[in-house]
Amino acid sequence: MEIKTSEIFGIPFLSADMRTAVDYAFRKAEEKPVTVVTPNAEILYQAGRDAALREAVDRADLALPDGVGVVMAGKILGRPVERKLAGVEFGDAVIGRAAETGKSVYFLGAKPGVAEKAAANLREKHPGLIVAGCADGYFGDDAAAASRVRESGAWILLICLGSPKQEIFMERFRNETGCRLAAALGGSLDVYAGNAKRAPRWMIRLGLEWLYRLVREPKRFGRMMKIPRVLFRALGIRLFGEGKKKDRG
Ligand code: UDP
Repeated sequence: MEIKTSEIFGIPFLSADMRTAVDYAFRKAEEKPVTVVTPNAEILYQAGRDAALREAVDRADLALPDGVGVVMAGKILGRPVERKLAGVEFGDAVIGRAAETGKSVYFLGAKPGVAEKAAANLREKHPGLIVAGCADGYFGDDAAAASRVRESGAWILLICLGSPKQEIFMERFRNETGCRLAAALGGSLDVYAGNAKRAPRWMIRLGLEWLYRLVREPKRFGRMMKIPRVLFRALGIRLFGEGKKKDRG
């Protein structure tokens, strides 16, 4: 199955709709263990500075443009993606497909109790969902956490540890967990559990979800200042070319 991608700061972001993203991930997972990353502009920026994060993102099988910052950077670079693909929506769509096809899911991340609550809500939303296991994201021993996933026999692993921990964990234990499909989804478990709310639809439609998050959590301001830096960098590349600096965000 061929997919269309747009290269933004060296990362081939999927340029397609959500259905294509899910189809591709499931099909590819039949061949080999697949990893999916969902970089927003902050992660894109960080990947230019953190070699381990960069490597994990580079090795992923699928990168979804999670955020208007990435979408705008693509436009500025003259390589637009078709649309924003939010990780939290991808996770939900993957769970829906898992429930239809009888594939089991392991939920890893967030504070104690959140993964269980998220799994219960998702089981209600997607009847037939098989939950292989749940664990919070505050474990000391990464290898032990990965082997607990393997013991569960899960086909799918949703990893919500925040960035860069989740991307690095996912790549490092790609084979050890025994899962066919793994996705790094940031704060998604908090949303599925009902502890964090997404922006109202009209704000998402206008590309203002970042503003909603900023108003709810003003401490994110520092992190979000990376968005304009990514856009300036994209504009610099478009106007003046790569220059001496490598195209890495
Ligand atoms: N988290 C975790 N283990 C850690 C650090 C963070 O499980 O060691 C969780 C945290 O509880 C939250 C998620 O990772 O549920 C990160 O959320 P955030 O909103 O920062 O993610 P974003 O989507 O913005 O990357």
